[in-house]
Amino acid sequence: MPGRILVVDDVATNRIILKVKLASAAYEVLQAGGGAEALRMAQRDRPDLILLDSAMPDLDGLEVCRRLKADKRTAEIPIIMVTARDDPASRIAALEAGAEDFMSKPLDDIGLLARVRSLLRASGIASELALREGTRQALGFAEPTCDFAPAGRFCLIAADEATATLWRHGLADRLRDQLEVCAPHDALKEAGKTAPDLYVIAADLTRDGEGLMLLSELRSRQSTRHAGIIIAVDRAAQTAASMALDMGASDIVTLPIDFDELALRMRAQFARKRQGDRLRSRVRDGLQLAVTDPLTGLFNRRYAMSHLTRVRDRALAADRTFAAMLIDLDRFKQVNDTHGHAAGDVVLKSVSEILSANLRSVDLVARIGGEEFLAILPDIVPRAARKTAERLREAVSGRPIALPSGTVGGEPVTMLQTVSIGLVTGGGGPAGSDVSLTELLERADKALYEAKKCGRNRVALAAAGRAAA
Ligand code: GH3
Ligand code: MG
Ligand code: MG
Repeated sequence: MPGRILVVDDVATNRIILKVKLASAAYEVLQAGGGAEALRMAQRDRPDLILLDSAMPDLDGLEVCRRLKADKRTAEIPIIMVTARDDPASRIAALEAGAEDFMSKPLDDIGLLARVRSLLRASGIASELALREGTRQALGFAEPTCDFAPAGRFCLIAADEATATLWRHGLADRLRDQLEVCAPHDALKEAGKTAPDLYVIAADLTRDGEGLMLLSELRSRQSTRHAGIIIAVDRAAQTAASMALDMGASDIVTLPIDFDELALRMRAQFARKRQGDRLRSRVRDGLQLAVTDPLTGLFNRRYAMSHLTRVRDRALAADRTFAAMLIDLDRFKQVNDTHGHAAGDVVLKSVSEILSANLRSVDLVARIGGEEFLAILPDIVPRAARKTAERLREAVSGRPIALPSGTVGGEPVTMLQTVSIGLVTGGGGPAGSDVSLTELLERADKALYEAKKCGRNRVALAAAGRAAA
């Protein structure tokens, strides 16, 4: 189902005409005969988009639009304002009231459907992100939102100097955002650097389709994929406008240009871009949180296990060896008992830093239990793995750790922490393929137990299985 659209018009014939057009494109259509009814239905039926007549006897369309945008429950529903007039003042009024777009009667079928598709696509992305954000919040990762809106960066792509200068002047008083001007052939070259928030393509699309080509290039590149793109289209070139929307333009402005309208549309695109960026980075953080341990910042057990599986499989396939180490803090309970739990946390953090600093960048260390770590070392022969384990052990035992519990004579209280390590090696071709991860870790655990039994602060090797032979 492509979406549910609420058509608001006091004239029944108008509603029916729209209903037929939209239903032919398989949209579900709801109808409201006035402003008050529209507000009720928007709240109750949650349409995906609203086509709103601007002139209605009971409640003016602009007023309905403002109320819908002011209400949290309906603010995210995109609105296309439909009016009998097509003058700059009505367009500005609609955009200022919060409408996403504006169309005048009689509605051109192709243009209408292209706008509907484009708005539904954008709001679909927004709600998808909001959904993931919701999951994150449900997991307890909520954080206060920041309403501060930094200035945006936009890139004006104009075919010639004269147009660039004219547009730059037109926008300078209306926006405080940072403006860069770019010739069409430079826009893509520059796109590799930090991309602007918004591109405004001033090119005339009726001229050899250069603007459209640029649009689809910007949309397809990794660095500019999420940027807003507004493209200027000649008033007569409505087919080009529809094509541009279908190719991923965020919005359209018509030529000759009205800078007030352009500035309003740009501001709306900035807001959308910022919201998208914020949600995307939170989703990334959310994924990050799902695989890391909050105290030490190391990977967690879940991540370590899937990583170990990959390392083992690759080693078997490539006939190489790898190593895994279970590293456990010695007598750590005593640290907590003597210095307090907060000091214990500091020790855990310090030890995790020492471990990370003493491993190669291809190695991975994870905190897999309270005071237990797992190091995974791909592409390493058993002898080198033993040396690494010894080095880790020495690095930890030789480093005084400053405790937060106070100072003595101006110096922080420090302590020495030691670790015991159970080392297991594996891989080396198909011979090791029958060793399960569970078995591998059990052997490492037995070795660790031996190390503890023999006095702690030492490395013990797992009994060689077939994999380690
Ligand atoms: P062993 O040398 O045999 O390993 O002795 P141990 O005291 O280190 O081992 P034990 O398993 O008896 O105690 C581990 C302690 O680690 C108990 C627990 O309170 C502490 N611990 C586990 N997670 C944390 C943590 O996140 N912070 C702090 N401060 N302590 C923790
Ligand atoms: Mg311990
Ligand atoms: Mg333990």
